[in-house]
Amino acid sequence: MTNNFDYDVLVIGAGPGGYHAAIRAAQLGLKTACVERGAVGGVCLNIGCIPTKALLHAAEMVHASHRAAEFGLTFADTNLNIAKLNGWKDGIVKKLTGGVSGLFKANKVTLLTGQASFVDDHTVSVDGKNYTAAHFIIATGSDPAKLPGLDVDQDSIVDSTGALVMPDPVPARMLCVGGGVIGFEFAQVYNNLGSKVKIIEFLPSVIPGADADAVKEFAKVMSKQGIEIVTQMKANRAEKKADGVHVELENVKTGEKTTEVFDRVLVAVGRRPRTDGLNAEKAGVTVTERGFIPADKQQRTNVPHIFSIGDVASNPMLAHKAMKEGLVAAEVIAGKPAEQDAVAIPGVVYTSPELAWVGLTEQEAKDKGYEVKTGVFPMSASGRAMTLQSTDGFVKMVVEKDTDLLLGVHIVAPHASDMLAEAGLALEMAATATDISLTIHAHPTLGESMLEAAEAAHKQAIHIVNR
Ligand SMILES: Cc1cc2nc3c(=O)[nH]c(=O)nc-3n(C[C@H](O)[C@H](O)[C@H](O)COP(=O)(O)OP(=O)(O)OC[C@H]3O[C@@H](n4cnc5c(N)ncnc54)[C@H](O)[C@@H]3O)c2cc1C
Repeated sequence: MTNNFDYDVLVIGAGPGGYHAAIRAAQLGLKTACVERGAVGGVCLNIGCIPTKALLHAAEMVHASHRAAEFGLTFADTNLNIAKLNGWKDGIVKKLTGGVSGLFKANKVTLLTGQASFVDDHTVSVDGKNYTAAHFIIATGSDPAKLPGLDVDQDSIVDSTGALVMPDPVPARMLCVGGGVIGFEFAQVYNNLGSKVKIIEFLPSVIPGADADAVKEFAKVMSKQGIEIVTQMKANRAEKKADGVHVELENVKTGEKTTEVFDRVLVAVGRRPRTDGLNAEKAGVTVTERGFIPADKQQRTNVPHIFSIGDVASNPMLAHKAMKEGLVAAEVIAGKPAEQDAVAIPGVVYTSPELAWVGLTEQEAKDKGYEVKTGVFPMSASGRAMTLQSTDGFVKMVVEKDTDLLLGVHIVAPHASDMLAEAGLALEMAATATDISLTIHAHPTLGESMLEAAEAAHKQAIHIVNR
């Protein structure tokens, strides 16, 4: 690209969206810089996906060590060193963020450290120094939503960032305000480490957006593990006292109010796009009332040479969506015919078992006018699941009745997130349930449940009685 600008592309934010965009732009021969005011890797690597998964794994190991008694393995004492747990988790984050910095260097992406603010539509200032670019990619991400009356102090009242630092001792009584993905992941971590956990959700159902049958099964399994789930309940205010945090809860149906005491309260009620200090208006970029910077399928904002990706652009706020959008923006800038046209953006709750889904829920399919059939294969009929001591859950396939076209897959099972990769590919390739059932799946594996669910949609599953 020939111009008088400092860079062909300047990316604002080095989270999953930003670093994917910057690396792909550089791979395509564009002179690229990425501005980051915090830590490289953004929310996902530093205070999101990665540290939560580390805690979930460690907590699951504790849980599994108790369950090992079922096959005769007992431990004299299970002793968890909390300081070591926190340090191990931080070490993984450090390794991965260091990896991103290394990839920037290897790909010749210039990392500029500081707060980026637009000066005009071709200039940003980074902590007072101006840089010009032919194109910008805004990848500034999101922050936790606040709840009036519950002031986060990152000690006894925490958001997801505070919840990542496990206190010693582990809190005896834990409240998760918000029954979404983040609420459930932390609920299981704390539950497995010994807290008595309660989740409250304002809406009639937890994990909004997921398939109703899958959510019902998932909630049943979580309750069985000891997590108390209460829907249509809100937290009005919290007050710190000597004996704990007193939280006023209100039943949204009856208006009845009660006060309960907890040692730690997690506020996980969603996330808000992050545009503070960006001065997007100086570049003429539209920011919606809710703070999003909307983009078209090529990730362009209303200003054609300025792009927006990831959490700041739109829902769902997921790392893999941000990554894909980053690649699209970079490729469009390089003149490639790219656009964000995904059929399948997977969603996962990384608990044990996991809840994972891709494509349309049964209700969404019906709302879109499809006549559907479903195939369900319970994990209790899976030999592999039995060997893993994890027989709760199922694979549910939503299939168009006449064409046999796969529309959606909803799984409650161990490693459901990995099983989902097959489902995503099947959806992107417009596979039918027959395509899946004709594919030889290794035995014994959890993945076989995909084959059996496809067979169940035809009422021809082998390991269950078809009804
Ligand atoms: C607890 C938790 C768990 C999660 N788990 C998962 C998961 O398992 N899977 C999944 O897919 N998603 C998960 N997410 C969501 C995921 O983290 C986000 O979707 C993802 O990080 C969004 O990427 P992004 O690039 O859009 O923004 P971010 O990761 O938010 O990165 C934006 C970056 O921009 C920087 N920045 C902002 N403004 C400026 C500015 N003006 N100048 C310079 N720099 C700026 C910020 O410092 C930040 O580093 C989780 C989130 C949380 C909070």
